[in-house]
Amino acid sequence: MLGPMMETMTWPEVKQAVSVGYVPVWPIGATEQHGPHLPLGTDVILPLEVARAAAREIKIVIPPPLKFGFKSKALSGGGQGFPGTTSLDGETLIGVVRDIVSELGRHGFRQLVVLNWHMENRNFVWEGIDQARLRGRLDGVKVMSIDGLTGAFRQDELAWLFEEGFRGWDIEHAALVETSLMLAMRPELVRADRIADDASEVHPWYDLIPEPPSHVPPSGVLSRASAASREKGERLRLMMVAKLVDALRTEFNTPNQTVDPAHDGGRAPLVVD
Ligand SMILES: [Zn+2]
Repeated sequence: MLGPMMETMTWPEVKQAVSVGYVPVWPIGATEQHGPHLPLGTDVILPLEVARAAAREIKIVIPPPLKFGFKSKALSGGGQGFPGTTSLDGETLIGVVRDIVSELGRHGFRQLVVLNWHMENRNFVWEGIDQARLRGRLDGVKVMSIDGLTGAFRQDELAWLFEEGFRGWDIEHAALVETSLMLAMRPELVRADRIADDASEVHPWYDLIPEPPSHVPPSGVLSRASAASREKGERLRLMMVAKLVDALRTEFNTPNQTVDPAHDGGRAPLVVD
């Protein structure tokens, strides 16, 4: 088993990974407030942990995750007013994505996955990939762009998850899904005694610039975090890993991983910590 973290691999190992069909899965997130109970890096920790779990099943390498993302919008992330939320301009994000996917293509990888978790990044990530393609730097390379694994959930899965009814992914910020997943995957980072529900005073169907205070919940939590549980997080984690593995097998015919029991199976020390 190679990697999966590219930053701990050597160049001959990357060369070997290219030759045996490993697929880079690049997590992209943000440094953004996630309420009083979750860390600023939640949007990058979650796709990274899902990718690491998937790397136990299929041959994946994980390039250093992008820990910064586009600005937070009030109605889907609480806005830019919280200390610690540290963001890129759209053009910067486009440029970083364009350069990194181009570089991965230059190494010889013929298939890439960009695994974005932060909703506001969406079109900038797409544009970065497309600019690389238009510049001829992805010739012969197939790219899968994923905007949060939640998009893969079926109605019956949503009904199980949201017992009180599903009200939209935009308000699932620092709420049920992210809190449950963090409780399952990185419980030591959750301030469990500070989990609370919140919402913006009003939640219209349009955005306003500048953002009025009525659009920003005081805690930064956009809906129900108290419905989160470690059990839900465990099941969500398994579902997300299965969906990612299935997508890679379907589109890329990604080889299965043969985990060496002596290997730590992806639990090597992470720079993200
Ligand atoms: Zn988030």
